[in-house]
Amino acid sequence: MQNTGAGSRTEAIKKNLRDVTNIVMVISGKGGVGKSTIASNLAIALAGNGQKIGLLDIDIHGPNLPKMLGVEKERMQSTNENRIEPVRISDNLKLVSMAFLLPEENQAVIWRGPLKMKVIQQFLSDIQWGKLDWLIVDSPPGTGDEPLSMAQLVPASSAIIVTTPQEISILDVKKSIDFARKLNLRLLGIVENMSGFRCPHCGKEIPLFKEGGGKKLAQDMEIPFLGVIPIDPEIVKAADKGLLYVKIFPDSPATKALKEIANKISKKK
Ligand code: ADP
Repeated sequence: MQNTGAGSRTEAIKKNLRDVTNIVMVISGKGGVGKSTIASNLAIALAGNGQKIGLLDIDIHGPNLPKMLGVEKERMQSTNENRIEPVRISDNLKLVSMAFLLPEENQAVIWRGPLKMKVIQQFLSDIQWGKLDWLIVDSPPGTGDEPLSMAQLVPASSAIIVTTPQEISILDVKKSIDFARKLNLRLLGIVENMSGFRCPHCGKEIPLFKEGGGKKLAQDMEIPFLGVIPIDPEIVKAADKGLLYVKIFPDSPATKALKEIANKISKKK
């Protein structure tokens, strides 16, 4: 009889991910702080450096990555061996998202924890990820079913924590740090996003959401600080049009910051 218990599930995941060097979850305390933006742009920056990258969107209720990356009309294909191929963004970058499984873009997914765990498990055990330097996982904000399932199914994962500089976001992110520590995730560091805005008219730096909160938090909690990303309205436009921001604005301050963060992460391999 087939063994369908937890042990065999973990074995199947281990076997399927045997050629994946690192798994990193991008997490945040709050929604809207730029977690998906950072997960996708770091993936593009790392892939541009010649690393093999998989992006896994486990935001089951709001899977945005396909739209942000301009591939929302694509579907995952099954192989001759009944396995599933991720959608290819470029030679070095593959994407898997719940959005590819939904018949309609606007359809809501109304699932409880165990069902979410099951689909995440299948993303990990049945997708033909192949050889990857990094599998970057974009999870929904907070410490709910999705990041918890992920951390339990692949216990040796790392985490990048995204916050905006203001205190309310910092307060929430402390819970994410506690979550990562309790689940023994390797904390690669904190990214402070939307940190400062340069006025296009007068060139003055305006701290719209304050500045420095993420850095201070990293110091207080003794976690590496990965860097700050400024506000750039072109990030919003690129995401809405499905264009790859770091590719179309290779010299912007935000792209430079993202590339520096990608380099720092590469060194933590
Ligand atoms: P989350 O995944 O945390 O919910 P998103 O990545 O979807 O957040 O970002 C929320 C919104 O903020 C999006 O419209 C995105 O384009 C925008 N955004 C993210 N980071 C920046 C930034 N540094 N500058 C300007 N807009 C940003």
